[in-house]
Amino acid sequence: MQSRSSERIVRSRRVALGGVTEPLRVAPANLHLSGARITAISDYDAPLPPADGARVGVGVGVVVEDHGDDLITPSFVDAHVHAPMLYFRGLGSALAMRGNVVEDVFYAVESKLEPSDVRAFARLGAYELLRVGTGTIWEHYYFGEELAAGLRDAGITGFVAPTLQDRSGPGVPWLEQQLDATIALCEDDDLAEAGLFAALGPHATDTVSAALWQRIATLAQERGLPVHAHVAQSYEEVERAWQTAGCSPVEMLQRSGALDASHRFLMVHGIFLSDADLGRLDPARHTLGFCPFSQLQFSVPADVLRWTARGLPWVVATDCAACNDGMDVQKELRFVSGARALRAAHSSEREAFARAGSLTAAAELERTRQAAYDLDHGWSDPAALLSRVWSIPGVLDPRWPAGALEAGRVANYCVWDIEDPAFWPGIDPLRALAMGSPLPALRRHVVAGRPVGRDGDVRTLGEQAEVREAAREARRRLELLLARLN
Ligand SMILES: [Zn+2]
Repeated sequence: MQSRSSERIVRSRRVALGGVTEPLRVAPANLHLSGARITAISDYDAPLPPADGARVGVGVGVVVEDHGDDLITPSFVDAHVHAPMLYFRGLGSALAMRGNVVEDVFYAVESKLEPSDVRAFARLGAYELLRVGTGTIWEHYYFGEELAAGLRDAGITGFVAPTLQDRSGPGVPWLEQQLDATIALCEDDDLAEAGLFAALGPHATDTVSAALWQRIATLAQERGLPVHAHVAQSYEEVERAWQTAGCSPVEMLQRSGALDASHRFLMVHGIFLSDADLGRLDPARHTLGFCPFSQLQFSVPADVLRWTARGLPWVVATDCAACNDGMDVQKELRFVSGARALRAAHSSEREAFARAGSLTAAAELERTRQAAYDLDHGWSDPAALLSRVWSIPGVLDPRWPAGALEAGRVANYCVWDIEDPAFWPGIDPLRALAMGSPLPALRRHVVAGRPVGRDGDVRTLGEQAEVREAAREARRRLELLLARLN
């Protein structure tokens, strides 16, 4: 990472503006940056402090980065990720997904983790995230302080939730230590300066007792912290809720007081949410997290069509390399866009057509497909898709407002080569960005005002000495971990 320049003007004839109170659009603009923040947006044709024209020039105390026709966008926000879990990539088999992979595989390995393992794996995971244009994450894992240190080593920003468990899971012996770590992270001004902030991370409704949920709700209120948890992610979680409390996981949260307290609550997966559960959620405080490619592997995709119909805010995230195999949140958007087609794909009309094979049955299936399109096509347009990884997760916490290029937000942005074949012919760059495979065109990624990669070229990240060393350190740690596991 290079050091940040204090005053900077970043400009292009194609900047993705709006997307919060105004519609998302691409227009010529100058972004004025100071340190890690965007301070103003000015007219592209307004006179600049130094002479215009240099691609990257130094004027009277102000650096001007002129990106010509390249597209400048916000960095992506991955609103639910376990960056250290990239060490599971290839460890679990597809067979492990038949049962509860979290309990059957992850817990056994995680119980042997050491704090330094987490720092090494988190650092490498963060490099992977930065490389795909993700600048802010909502992270959730064991050994919170080492976790935050690893993320900081790499230079990624966001919210760190040390995983809290007291009923079951590998984190039970570490509970008090991780509650202390949450407070320590919350009070760490240097960490905040680096763009990393604490969140409360109860693991799930079946691994956290009602008493601990109450304690977490109190802490959230006292410290003004958001809560980030897995909710209704597995059948076993639902079964335990019914066995212990005689109700659903969400109703159990409501009874503990954790649901209706005033804190912001990011609830991830929500695969087993009934209409009654959705009715208990408040769009002003509760945001749901959808991780399509992870859920396709470990369970079934959540019913986001229902979430949308209820007017609940939801974000798109990757979860982790353990379930997803990758951590590229842009890739998830194509699945999100196609989710409406699943209505018809798994409809009774599809079944009837397969049995009858007649023209009448084909017409019925086509009517079902078109009805699904009419109902849901609005939220699969590029601006709506990008809002799930930009503006909606970007406002989950006011301490680090990301996901849009406007005054007051953080200086996290990507520069895309619009002449790259991945964008060509560049008629609708936002669609290419939401639905295509734009990664080869990502040439610059700036996080908290700091460029990623050698000489500000994000494509060089993998060749950098510190990234190579991070990979070697992570491999040493993985070999020792596997040896402890036999
Ligand atoms: Zn998760």
